[in-house]
Amino acid sequence: MDWLTNLIWYNDKLFGIEWSVWKVIGWAGNLIFFSRFFVQWYATERNKQVVVPAAFWWLSLVGSLLLLIYGLWRRDSVFIFAYLFTWIPYIRNLVIHHRHTKRHQICIQCGVASPPAANFCSTCGSHLVPETAHANQPKIER
Ligand SMILES: [Zn+2]
Repeated sequence: MDWLTNLIWYNDKLFGIEWSVWKVIGWAGNLIFFSRFFVQWYATERNKQVVVPAAFWWLSLVGSLLLLIYGLWRRDSVFIFAYLFTWIPYIRNLVIHHRHTKRHQICIQCGVASPPAANFCSTCGSHLVPETAHANQPKIER
């Protein structure tokens, strides 16, 4: 277990990193940005089709903004350019996602959106409750 101790606590520092507020921002950005892959993978496995949930775009947006802040502090042109414009498609996808889920019916069983006129879910086949019947119930997030 000595190798593990050396990995976690190296050179009298956590992971051997010289920690500062900026390093915390940068690493938080890294972890948030990286976590989006697991969120998307989980959603895809659960629905048995390729699904990109809104959480994927939120994690992309927050993670890339933190990495941009870190890049600006570093004054690193490569870092800055890599994350300078990525927020545009992330926000656009969130807007489209919001409009889509607003107009469509979200299946209570599997969480997949179906067209407004559909009576049954195209993914799991369960009966879709019309919008007016459960208008007062909280929306199912996914
Ligand atoms: Zn369904």
